[in-house]
Amino acid sequence: MERKSKIKLLLTVTVITFAVAGIVAFFIWNKIKADTQKYNPVVEQNDIKTTPSNQIVDGPDTRNKVPVPILMYHHIRNYNDPNDKVGTNLSVPPENFKAQIDYLKNNGFTTITFREFLDFPTRKLPDKPIILTFDDGYQDTYDVAFHNLKSNEQIGVFYIISGFLGRPEFMTAPEVKEISDAGMEIGSHTIDHPDLTKLSAEKLSTELIESKSKLESIIGRTIISFCYPAGQQNAAVDAAVANTGYKTATTTNMAISSTSEEKFALSRLRINPEDSLSYFADKIVNYKSQK
Ligand SMILES: [Zn+2]
Repeated sequence: MERKSKIKLLLTVTVITFAVAGIVAFFIWNKIKADTQKYNPVVEQNDIKTTPSNQIVDGPDTRNKVPVPILMYHHIRNYNDPNDKVGTNLSVPPENFKAQIDYLKNNGFTTITFREFLDFPTRKLPDKPIILTFDDGYQDTYDVAFHNLKSNEQIGVFYIISGFLGRPEFMTAPEVKEISDAGMEIGSHTIDHPDLTKLSAEKLSTELIESKSKLESIIGRTIISFCYPAGQQNAAVDAAVANTGYKTATTTNMAISSTSEEKFALSRLRINPEDSLSYFADKIVNYKSQK
């Protein structure tokens, strides 16, 4: 072979080699890019702060203990049926509820959720923190309580019975999602509201796990709060709740809670339909447990 032809061949081989290497590199690069884009994990939204931004206070809280009244509501509706004493007692009239929210707003209280509550003492709690809880997921708490809180830039915690969603008188799944998206907290109140102290260990864990995962799939966030149906609890139930991954649980024991109270046996203050505004105002600060 002539010298010229040899050089020509060498050049051709070199050009082809670089071209092939370039094409291979291009495909490898694209594959890596595609794989990276495929791994797009669902963002954990636990760290999103639900407290209105103007009330966020940074830095650790140096107080030993902060009182945090946790108010317990069920229905927010006008209802008075002498044949249904239980239902009547669980129904706070909307006018009373609205007056209570106005009172809190005008008297320096800051509504928080259990996320902020658990941040103590790493992050400062506002001066007069208060938690509003709504049990059972009744339609009227969506219609009245949620909309009232939202328009007043306040927040609350809604405990949902996952198996009752969409039944007459109960919220629907999209409504629960809307409440969560508005910055309120959704907690679990089991699948079908049984007395947890009377269940087998297996049935108990089903109630705790499946209600949690169903609600999480609806709202796309982690559920950390639980509420014992009818306040029924014992050591075994408390332990099962903690083992399921909940971080707080509320009872029906009447007392003003605080940051130092046991997180799986948090006391609450029941708000009754007949509570006058002045009684309400006194109760949330001075209530003495009759225990
Ligand atoms: Zn309940």
